[in-house]
This record gives sequence, structure tokens and C-alpha cells, in this order.
Amino acid sequence: MRASDRPYRFRYCVLAFFLVGCSRFTPPAELPVASSLILDELVIYSDFQFPDNHRLLMDLQEMRSRITEGLDLPPSDEPVEVYLFKTPRRYQKFLAHHYPQFPDRRAFFVQTDTRLCVYTYWGDRIAEDLRHEVCHGYLHAAVPNIPLWLDEGLAEFYERDESAEGFHQEHIDLLVAARDRGDWQPQLARLESLEKMEEMSELEYAEAWLWTHFLLQTTEWRKNLLRETLQTSRQKRDASLWQQWHLIEPDVSQQLLDHLARLQSADRLAP
Ligand SMILES: [Zn+2]
Repeated sequence: MRASDRPYRFRYCVLAFFLVGCSRFTPPAELPVASSLILDELVIYSDFQFPDNHRLLMDLQEMRSRITEGLDLPPSDEPVEVYLFKTPRRYQKFLAHHYPQFPDRRAFFVQTDTRLCVYTYWGDRIAEDLRHEVCHGYLHAAVPNIPLWLDEGLAEFYERDESAEGFHQEHIDLLVAARDRGDWQPQLARLESLEKMEEMSELEYAEAWLWTHFLLQTTEWRKNLLRETLQTSRQKRDASLWQQWHLIEPDVSQQLLDHLARLQSADRLAP
């Protein structure tokens, strides 16, 4: 199910990013507001009553400090609005009315000039979907110009339960299979050149996750390189991490493949 579901989420990410900066987009007025919960800068609206102390919602609240502190981002008080529907049917009805041009998908994130919004329903993969989309919200609150590949790589990393430390079996399997077929080699410079979500394949999402995991989970120097890139991205578009990195670690692509091999051998032990 996960593999078959995956393209749908990729597609809604595509759509979400089509909308970034689109001045014609206006969030609809009719939204689920039967229940609301304010958790610091995370505001959750729903069309059903959910327990205020639900673990997932607490996790989402805590994720903001985990992301901003872990990535050394400045704190932001920009709210991230989450609109939750109880059932897929209600959600799809809402979408059909307000976004008839959108294809079927489980959730999406929309950034406009004034708002960061997530729309989804309470389904089987709600935890992963919410962590992924809310992560986009937190990142964009601090780094509106975050490079596309890094935005998705970080969202794929943080969508995992905190105890998994970003470990993503699905991506490992995909990358290992592509590597073994001989039709994939890591190319960060090419990932950095991608500007539109529709240009990113499932394999490129997986590669974006792998580079991000490598940066965050190997050395402090690499983690700082990632932090510096995010800082630069706050000042200008198209900040390149690769330009600096490959000069200092010329064999970094091979090291990334070694990292993948280590993850592959560890996969049975990981959460
Ligand atoms: Zn995404």
C-alpha cells in the first residue's frame, strides 16, 4: 500500500508548490472549524472533536522546536494552520468544491504570501502525512526560499517518527534496487538544479532524503554545512550546498553510496 500510495503524495506536493507565490490563489472561506486547538504557533481546525492531548498533535507541536533547534533556524511566530477532516469523503468533497483541478491525494501544503496551510483527513497514514506537511510549514516559516530538493529531503526525514531518527526503509529499498540495476548514481548538483516539483521523480525524492539523512546523521561538519545552506537560503534563492561541499569532500558521492550500504545492512534492526 505504501508504494502504491506514494505517487499520490508526490503529486500533491507538486501541486502545493505550483501554488507557491501564485497571487491568484486564495484559501477558501469554508473550512472545517467545528473544533480548534492552538498549540503555540500551530493552529489545528477540524470538522470533528479530537482529544486535546492526542499524542500526534503534541508531537507536531514539539516538532517545531526540534526542527528549528536542530537546523539552527531562527524561531518564527508565523502560524501554521492545519485543516483536518474526519473522513476522506468530507475531505474530497471539500476539494471537489474548492480545488476541482486537483488530482486525488491525501494531504497538501500551501504557502501564500500571508498563510501557511495544511489540508488533510484523519486516515491510516495521518501521522506521517501531517509530520511531512507541517514540516514544510515550519521550514517555510523560517526559510521561504528553501531549495526544493532540501525542502522535500527534510520533510521526508522529519515525517518519520522521532524514534526512527529519519530512517526511511521505503527510500532505502528504492535506491538500492535502482543502484543494483545500474540506473542510478547520486548527483546532488542535478537535484539542486530542479526547480519544479513535477520534475522530481519518486527516485529523486528518495535521493533527496538520502542526502539529507547523510548530512544530518554522519558528521557535525556536514550538519553545519546544511545549517549554513539554510542560512544562505534565507538571504537569496538557489543557494548551492554542492558548490562548497564537493571541493572539500571530492569523494562525497561515493561516501553517500557507502552510507546507503550501511543503512541497507542496518535495515532489519531499525525501527
Ligand atoms: Zn512534500
